[in-house]
Amino acid sequence: MQRRTFLKLGSAATVGIASSSVSVVAEKVSAPKIERYVPLGGTDLKISDIAFGCSRLSDAELVRYAYDRGVTYFDTAESYRGGTSESAVGAALSGVRDKVVIASKTKARAGQSSKQMMIALENSLKRLRTDYVDIYYNHAVNHPDRMKNPEWAIFTERAIEQGKIRYRGMSGHGSRLVECLDYALDNDLVDVALVAFNFAQDPTFEEELRYLFHYVALQPELVRVIKKARAKGTGIVAMKTLMGARLHDMRPFERDGATFAQAALRWVLAGGLVDSAAISMTGFAEIDEYIGASGYRKVADSDFNLLARYTSLQANRYCQHGCGICIDSCPDKLQIPEILRVRMYDADYGDRALAVAGYEALDHQATACIECVDQPCIDACPNNIPIAAYTLDAANRFEMA
Ligand code: SF4
Ligand code: SF4
Repeated sequence: MQRRTFLKLGSAATVGIASSSVSVVAEKVSAPKIERYVPLGGTDLKISDIAFGCSRLSDAELVRYAYDRGVTYFDTAESYRGGTSESAVGAALSGVRDKVVIASKTKARAGQSSKQMMIALENSLKRLRTDYVDIYYNHAVNHPDRMKNPEWAIFTERAIEQGKIRYRGMSGHGSRLVECLDYALDNDLVDVALVAFNFAQDPTFEEELRYLFHYVALQPELVRVIKKARAKGTGIVAMKTLMGARLHDMRPFERDGATFAQAALRWVLAGGLVDSAAISMTGFAEIDEYIGASGYRKVADSDFNLLARYTSLQANRYCQHGCGICIDSCPDKLQIPEILRVRMYDADYGDRALAVAGYEALDHQATACIECVDQPCIDACPNNIPIAAYTLDAANRFEMA
């Protein structure tokens, strides 16, 4: 087991967002623990502020390790690692089922029947070794028609009646995230939303960045819809909080034991827009690092510097989830942000299996990019992401291999 010792920022180190005058005090901790448990919106669930994202999970030992450090929310899906993720969660947590919150997901499509959704749920329950999941999400919703399907409402009502799910959810990181979440909220279809949201999408952070370098705020509506959800008592869990998670790029700049990942988590948790942050945990040292961000309601002075540096490295490489400004530029109607997201899994996370599974699940793959001569998408991103080069790269990675 690989272990690292992290330094935890002491309470004297915390400052308000956008403040810049308090120095950092560090306190050595070798085994960080979860320090804060939060109510999840208006549900009766209470969860750890740092949650275990299981999209890359196949090892039950990691789940148990995180549980022993106080993590109580585990977020999996039927599609993660072809069901292996759910099986690992089930193997690790079946003996402590009443002490943890387990969420799973199915990709309920627009034309799918409630019977098919129930079969998917029951298969998940078998792999999870449990009679119920606390939250069941419609997974990666990228079009309102998936929430408009009346079969989803019929299915969730029936599954709740039968005690197989406790709360209904929607997860989203597609280009129509705001529209989908607005619809789900207006029609009372969700109790919890799992939403892609990172520090660089926070207007408070963007405001500060403008003084440092050119950066365009792409999603003024995202914060509005998150606030609307919170006002309705909908629980909000953030994902994709590390903006591409290029952690190794940031190691040379990390000081006094505080890491970029912790800074990114602290920023999202301190902003008051989300209840908890779910983050993929793939190693014991990573678990310690992420849990080290638990308990903070404010960010540290040093956090802003790390996040600003990361943004300057990543802003014209990272496609912000939920944006979609460029979509109409493609005559083939390719879902550019979704293609860039699965490319990121391979190019940035280094997770080939996750990337290939994501690419295969796309409604429209990047095949058309191989012979696209004019490339009308080429200048469509306000943050200068080289869309045509990246979509072609995705086609080469996933279709030519
Ligand atoms: S490539 Fe740029 S414009 Fe297109 S969705 Fe991503 S961030 Fe938005
Ligand atoms: S390069 Fe690909 S994404 Fe861009 S316009 Fe052509 S087909 Fe569409």
